[in-house]
Amino acid sequence: MNIEKISCVGTGVIGASWATNFIIKGCYVNLYDVGEEELDRAISLVDNNLGFLVKKEVLTVEEKDYAKSLMKTTTSLEEAVKDVHLIQESVPEKYEIKQEILKEADSFAPEEAIFASSTSGLLISEIAKYSNNPFRCIGAHPYNPPHLIPLVEITKGEKSSQETIDRAYDFYKSIDKEPIVLQKEVLGFVANRLSLALYREAIELIMRGVCSVEDVDKAVTFGPGLRYATMGPSLLYHLGGGAHGIKGILHHIGPSVEKWWEDMATFTKIPDGFPEIAQEGVKEELKNRSKEFGNTEEEVIKFRDDILIELLKNHKKV
Ligand code: NAD
Repeated sequence: MNIEKISCVGTGVIGASWATNFIIKGCYVNLYDVGEEELDRAISLVDNNLGFLVKKEVLTVEEKDYAKSLMKTTTSLEEAVKDVHLIQESVPEKYEIKQEILKEADSFAPEEAIFASSTSGLLISEIAKYSNNPFRCIGAHPYNPPHLIPLVEITKGEKSSQETIDRAYDFYKSIDKEPIVLQKEVLGFVANRLSLALYREAIELIMRGVCSVEDVDKAVTFGPGLRYATMGPSLLYHLGGGAHGIKGILHHIGPSVEKWWEDMATFTKIPDGFPEIAQEGVKEELKNRSKEFGNTEEEVIKFRDDILIELLKNHKKV
C-alpha cells in the first residue's frame, strides 16, 4: 500500500514543517491539533515555509497553490486519522501525551496505518506500551526543519514489525528524505550523539581558555563544517588517506589521535558557568558578524536557510 494520505498530529514547529514537506511531495495531509488557534498558527507556519520555497525557486506559485489544496485541518482526532496511511505524531516530548494520542489514534486509524513519532529521544517501546498495535509504531526523528533537512532517524521499538520499518523507509526515501534505520534503541539517536560529542569538546576548549566561543564557531564553520556539508567523516578520512584510504590514515595518525583522545573532555555534566559564558560569547559573535551576513537571530536564520537551500540543490534534495 502506497503512503499517500498522512495525518500530522501536533502542528507546532515540527508538525507544521513535516506538513510542508508532505504536501510539496503531493501527499494529502490532515493537520490535527488541540484548538483552532493552534491550527491557524500552523497554517501560517506552512504559508511561510511555502513562501520561502517559492522565493528560492524550489516551487512555482502554481505548485505552492496545489500543495496548499492538499491540506485540511481538524480538531477531531477521529477525522484526522480515520483514513490515513501514516500518522506523523509531533506532540510535546512527554510519554503521557504521546501514549494517550497513540491509544486514541489506535481506535480510529486503519490497522495498516503506520504510527511514526517525531520524538527526539523517548523510547518507542514505552510510547507504544498501551497500544493494541505496537507492531505499527516506530520513531521517525527529523532534524529541524524537516521540510529542508533530509535526515530521518527511524527507530524501532521492541514490537515494531520489520514490515512497518521497511514501508516507512521506502516512503521517506520516496519523498527525497535520507532515512537511516537504527538497529538498536539508543539514547539521543545518531545525529544528536555526534553533534553533542563535538559540542562537549567545544565547551572544554572554551573553559580551558584555549579559544573563544566565536573562534570555536569559526573553526567549525570554515573547517570541518564545510566538509561535513558535502559528505560524512569516514568518507572524508578515506579521501585524506590518499592511495592508502581510511585504513592507511587510521594507521598513520592513530598513535597521535590516541594521545589527543586522552587529553579530551569526558565530563557528563555541563560545567558550572558555561551557559552564561556561551550566552555572552554568542552575543559578541553576533555583534562581530558582517552586516551582510546578519547580526540578529532573524537575519542569521535567513543567512542559514539561504545557504541550506543552495547546498540542498547541490545534493539534489530540492
Ligand atoms: P511544539 O511545542 O512546537 O509543538 C507541539 C504541538 O503539539 C503544539 O502545536 C501543541 O498545541 C500540540 N499538542 C499538545 N498537546 C496535544 C495533544 N494532546 N494532541 C494534539 N496536539 C497537541 O513542539 P515541537 O518542537 O514541534 O516538538 C514536537 C516533537 O518533535 C517532540 O517530540 C520533539 O522532541 C520533536 N522534535 C523537535 C525538534 C525541534 O528542534 N523542535 C526536532 C526534532 C524532533
